[in-house]
Amino acid sequence: MRLKLISVLTTLAIGSMTAQAAVTEKMIEDSAKTGTEVLTSGLGTQGQRFSVLKQVNTSNVARLVPAWAFSFGGEKQRGQESQPLIHDGKMFVTASYSRIYALDAATGKKLWKYEQRLPDGIMPCCDVVNRGAALFGNLVIFATLDAQLVALDQNTGDVVWKEKVADYNAGYSESAAPLIANGLLLTGVSGGEFGVVGRVEARDPMTGRLVWSRPTVEGHMGYTYDADGTKHENGISGTTNQTWPGDLWKTGGAAPWLGGTYDPKTGLAYFGTGNPAPWNSHLRQGDNLFSCSTVAIDVKTGKIVWHYQGTPNDGWDFDGVNEFITFDMNGKRMGAKADRNGFFYVLDAKNGHLQNAFPFVKKITWASGIDLKTGRPNFIDSDRPGDPTASADGKKGSSVFSAPSFLGGKNQMPMAYSPQTGLFYVPANEWGMEIWNEPITYKKGAAYLGAGFTIKTIHDDYIGALRAIDPKTGKIVWEVKNSAPLWGGVLTTAGGLVFWGTPEGYLKAADARTGKVVWQFQTGSGVVAPPVTWMENGQQYVSVVSGWGGAVPLWGGEVAKKVNFLEQGGMVWVFKLTGGAPAKVASN
Ligand code: CA
Repeated sequence: MRLKLISVLTTLAIGSMTAQAAVTEKMIEDSAKTGTEVLTSGLGTQGQRFSVLKQVNTSNVARLVPAWAFSFGGEKQRGQESQPLIHDGKMFVTASYSRIYALDAATGKKLWKYEQRLPDGIMPCCDVVNRGAALFGNLVIFATLDAQLVALDQNTGDVVWKEKVADYNAGYSESAAPLIANGLLLTGVSGGEFGVVGRVEARDPMTGRLVWSRPTVEGHMGYTYDADGTKHENGISGTTNQTWPGDLWKTGGAAPWLGGTYDPKTGLAYFGTGNPAPWNSHLRQGDNLFSCSTVAIDVKTGKIVWHYQGTPNDGWDFDGVNEFITFDMNGKRMGAKADRNGFFYVLDAKNGHLQNAFPFVKKITWASGIDLKTGRPNFIDSDRPGDPTASADGKKGSSVFSAPSFLGGKNQMPMAYSPQTGLFYVPANEWGMEIWNEPITYKKGAAYLGAGFTIKTIHDDYIGALRAIDPKTGKIVWEVKNSAPLWGGVLTTAGGLVFWGTPEGYLKAADARTGKVVWQFQTGSGVVAPPVTWMENGQQYVSVVSGWGGAVPLWGGEVAKKVNFLEQGGMVWVFKLTGGAPAKVASN
């Protein structure tokens, strides 16, 4: 009897502890306002990557020193593009090859690790990366390279549910952090280079049960699902064959591989979509919706409420996946996106109407500008790679030099927005490419490009540039150049700081108003991941994952040669202020 009572009390205690720790929709919304925990990718579902914390600020950042570091270990390194999450004294951080670790956030002590057993046949186009997890209830949920979702108990690391999203044999994979929006788990898919069909899906985060599915290639049917799995048609995405010739839409790509953002004020989730497949644009005359677009999806119904297409009939692999960050400007809810195609767009977040568009890189060859009335680019026709069927042997179209390169004015590395300065902090790259088209036919699980390319540098002294950009004027307020291409994301804080990493291994901090670099630390390998900050026991911590890799060394052509001295790695670094003497700030 007595034993029974103790066991009941213990159960109650554990029950209430779990209830206290369980992540709710409200906690996620509040976390962006308090900054004490990091409950989502993007430090809030809007993805602003702005923290209200200011214990670490421009006057004391020189005293930032390592608190702890943790190695992902093993023989598996490659690109580490993950953003850590912080909850209940724990850090949840994913690593290359679909691994996830839970660490004590104050000490770095390992609590548990989960490693997905990956089949040999996976086909990630651009390295074996993972960009982070999502938290909901007592679960931490992440996506894997074999196109599955895995939900683990935050305390034990035990698998609570696991769902197959798509067929990795057809080229599908997953690397983005899932998004919690209005109590649902939202995910995209990767695989645009293999002719997959892009889609956004919503699930019950506690069980993995599918709630709705919304294809992002025009012509495909959307579905909703009952609790028992019964499937209902939820309307065709767009109008079949309106913007795609023949059967091309059946393998049309448009993969929303970088995940999405969500604004509770509009009730919309914003997903960017990748290139239409194949790359050879002459095979698919038309706009090829909804490729290279931002799609705004009503989270409750799974319907596309509006879309904005940055690159209609893309011929340069300008995936429009880049994050759409909502913010307030001129008293209205806007959204901003620095597109891979080199243009920065400001749209009305409710209806998608274009408000402003301007270049955020200095060399753009494929369009002379964006028509603010129609929202369409003014194409420079001579910069589209030539049609192979027009060549003498029909095997290779005329080659053109294009900028940006297909690796983009910006790629997967997320920018940040500071409501304090009203500026966006954009990790930009200046580079170009030789690109040409070739004939291609679809074959399941094979690369579906119909193009060849070589990435080229434009300037001898730099490729990367962290730029502070005014969304109202399009002005670059300041920039910090970087020799190697920037590939990590950005964090900005109420302490007046901007943090970002470089492939050369530095985590840097600059004054958000002036761009003056006020602190840097060498992490021992290239940084291609976004930093975070949080509070633990009254102390502000800053963290970033280090580990060189990603698309640049795999696809970078002449640029890859320029960065091939960089070493791989796999570490989480965590920093806090020390009371000691200010650390010396090395020159830029
Ligand atoms: Ca692509």
